[in-house]
Amino acid sequence: MYDFDPNLIATTSGHFIDGKVVGAGADRMQVIRPSDSEPYADIPLGSAEDVDRAVTSAHRAYRTAAWARIAPRDRAKVMYRWADLIEANKEELARLEAVGSTRPISEAIGWDVPFTAEAIRFFAEFADKLGGDVAATRPDHLGLIIAEPYGVIAAIAPWNVPLVTVSWKVGPALAAGNAVVLKPSEMTPFSVMRMAELAIEAGMPPGIFNIVQGNGPVTGDALCRHPMVGKITFTGSGRSGAAVMTASAESGAKPVTLELGGKSPQLVFGDAADLDKVAQSIARSMLGNAGQICVTGTRLIVQRSIEAELIDRVGTIAKAIRPGATWKGDTTFSPIISARQLDQIDAKVRSAFDAGAEAAIGGHRIQHIQDGNFYEPTILVNVKSDMPAVREEIFGPVVTVQHFDDEEEGIAMADDSIYGLAAGIYTADLGRAMRAMRALETGTVWINRYGRTRDFILPTGGYKQSGFGKDLGRQAVEANMRLKTVLMEFAE
Ligand code: NAD
Repeated sequence: MYDFDPNLIATTSGHFIDGKVVGAGADRMQVIRPSDSEPYADIPLGSAEDVDRAVTSAHRAYRTAAWARIAPRDRAKVMYRWADLIEANKEELARLEAVGSTRPISEAIGWDVPFTAEAIRFFAEFADKLGGDVAATRPDHLGLIIAEPYGVIAAIAPWNVPLVTVSWKVGPALAAGNAVVLKPSEMTPFSVMRMAELAIEAGMPPGIFNIVQGNGPVTGDALCRHPMVGKITFTGSGRSGAAVMTASAESGAKPVTLELGGKSPQLVFGDAADLDKVAQSIARSMLGNAGQICVTGTRLIVQRSIEAELIDRVGTIAKAIRPGATWKGDTTFSPIISARQLDQIDAKVRSAFDAGAEAAIGGHRIQHIQDGNFYEPTILVNVKSDMPAVREEIFGPVVTVQHFDDEEEGIAMADDSIYGLAAGIYTADLGRAMRAMRALETGTVWINRYGRTRDFILPTGGYKQSGFGKDLGRQAVEANMRLKTVLMEFAE
């Protein structure tokens, strides 16, 4: 029922600066649909001058427009209207999202767009909640710690769940009173353009939310280095995150939030209460967006006594997928974002085979969908802890399986990673769950479930090489504010 013709989708090709679409420059890049490898539109590759125009506009709007300078509740009202408009335009936004990304249309309509609108509402609620503190100074003084916006926030987003990630970056920054310049991924540049138009329709002053299109090394780098940027918030790979930090350090040491990659374990003990539920949870994480989610639980670490049974049940669920183009309403399994990423997934799986691993299921490209980039759900067994497939992020529907005999061994295996984004623990023993939770160096631990809910109040972010700082939660709004200390003396 959600089927649509991808060739009829009109995209807005340009930057969004000062409330208008601009930028028909000659330097352009084709954008390719992952479902059938067709180029379907292009974007301008933003130059340093384009970035300067966007940041200058944002800075001017921050200083003069009715945003940082109005009552916070009025700012919240604009954001509520914006969320309502996002929902009112759900189908159009979902099609723009689905056509060129990996998000199947049924999920884009049922999950991505409503989730985006709700996240904007969640952050709007903080507009008048975080003013700062009164300090306990001597009585003839008054000490204030005032929370203020940074001014211009540079937000850099990945391609994997474009609208949702953008709402997590832009929502808290705007609620705190900042202006934002966003650089979306060059692979998924269009749905956010419509979101920006809707912000203007909701009453957001021009310049408060600007978008520059382009690639990372030129456009993203220029944005990070711009002297009028107050803070950078980045989501993407560790390699790009390191480049962002370098750019920040070399241009005045701006604060940076980094949401990076992961290699998250799912630690299943033999006493887990309901093996079917555990299998559903593990399969859902492996199959969702074809494993292209930062918190995907890619390392299954299972007590030996239930290993075979659990693999069997996850495998049965995985066989029921319906891979297909994102514009088909009955598609339940996503394409891989690009041919290059597909090759990288396949290379990691082949290298695991060469080192002795075997596939319990999958292990190949899906050949029958011509021209699209699809990979079979893959469960690798007989893996060793030093294989790249176990240690490095694959960002595809590939899970490795390791087994253990006792609690200590299982926890040590789960924690054996340079990453620390998330972990799942399944057990009926509360004490064991708490011991494992305490031991794991990860930013999020899910117990007897896996994956996020709509509880936006729970912050998300990594430990170790998965980054630092938080998206979501009150902490995300606080991360978009800086603190001014004021001391007044009124002794006679
Ligand atoms: P990527 O690092 O290739 O790109 C992310 C963004 O950074 C893009 O907009 C890109 O243009 C930009 N960029 C690249 N180089 C840059 C540079 N030198 N300076 C400034 N910007 C630059 O990542 P991707 O392939 O788009 O996304 C997948 C990665 O993102 C995975 O590693 C995934 O785990 C991670 N991710 C993490 C989270 C999280 O919350 N921790 C969420 C989603 C994705």
